[in-house]
Amino acid sequence: MPLKPDLPEPESVQKRVGLAIVGLGKLSAEELIPAIRTSQHTRVAALVTSDVEEGRALARAFDLTDGDVYAYDDFEALKDREDVDGVYIVLPNSLHREFTERAARMGKHVLCEKPLSVNAAEAQAMVDACRAAGVQLMTAYRCQYTPHHWAARDAVQGGRLGAVKLLDSIHVQVETDPEAWRMKIALAGGGPLPDVGLYSLNILRFVLGTEPEWVFAAQHQPKNDSRFREIEESVSFMLGFPGGVIANALTSYGAHKTTTLRVLGEEGNALMDPAFSYTGLSLSITDKGGQTLPAFGSYDQFGLEIDHFAERIRDGNTPWTPGEEGVQDHRIMDAIYESARTGQVVRLENYAGLDVFRGEKPELPG
Ligand code: NAD
Repeated sequence: MPLKPDLPEPESVQKRVGLAIVGLGKLSAEELIPAIRTSQHTRVAALVTSDVEEGRALARAFDLTDGDVYAYDDFEALKDREDVDGVYIVLPNSLHREFTERAARMGKHVLCEKPLSVNAAEAQAMVDACRAAGVQLMTAYRCQYTPHHWAARDAVQGGRLGAVKLLDSIHVQVETDPEAWRMKIALAGGGPLPDVGLYSLNILRFVLGTEPEWVFAAQHQPKNDSRFREIEESVSFMLGFPGGVIANALTSYGAHKTTTLRVLGEEGNALMDPAFSYTGLSLSITDKGGQTLPAFGSYDQFGLEIDHFAERIRDGNTPWTPGEEGVQDHRIMDAIYESARTGQVVRLENYAGLDVFRGEKPELPG
């Protein structure tokens, strides 16, 4: 009997894909490890951390042993762990490349948190390393695995809104600690843009399925605020998609938490608010028939994303959000910074067709 009528029965723990979590910050401890434990196809097999004592305390809370905890310097010891199929990299952004390449050399598959790296060249090197080693590289874009975001995309691409003309998206939040790694350009690669603005960029591309042809941007970096010595406080960027579709996005570390997505078509519109939170996503679609609020059974965004990774490890097919998807976002973010610096529109390479950087579609729950 399934545990819950609407969920398939999870596999027995021994058969699941084993993952090592690299970096034990808030996201790993509060979201990812719990999500893996309730996922269908994965199990936590090891933890890799800068603080082994802290890692052991976490390990015990999650039924792992002290021997399952490794320091960063001992990462290569995972090579001999046959029960570790892949690693999930949850470190500050500039460390993603190093640990991806080290994992690839061990023949371990890689799920890497967003942003994939700190610029397009570094991100492309990660793709190349994983391809050369014959291992999967997936970018952890959780919002591309939720029923809410797929329903918005289906409304857009299924024609329910008529011809789409305009989109906008906001992802802003207040960051208070000037010493946090997110405020250091060498660790973060940028400010709110690669951290939270990336959600807007990535989901605008996802709902349309097409790639922007140009970008135009402005940014602000206050001179008298210790948080913004190295990074910008706010960025506003505009993306021009094929067919004259225009998208606007706002991101900041200086404004109260807000996450939205809006798509405006000739015959309707779709609004998500909140659009990027871990839980409580809300979608409303207005078309000729009036307004509907699609509802879905409960699900865990991280669990869905992680199970997709496990299935691609098993079947060898390209994940829906492979490394290439992360590289494309970096190309666009590099262009956004260039536009903000020069005040000029920056043209991007044109790509015909839909979902050119994506792989196998995820299975949605229910
Ligand atoms: P965090 O500050 O909580 O730290 C993550 C880990 O990195 C911790 O183990 C910390 O000890 C370690 N670390 C911090 N500074 C380090 C340094 N200088 N050298 C080596 N290790 C260091 O960060 P986080 O919020 O967990 O973010 C980690 C990654 O996850 C980032 O790439 C971030 O963008 C991503 N993230 C994604 C989501 C999402 O919803 N998908 C949410 C939060 C964070």
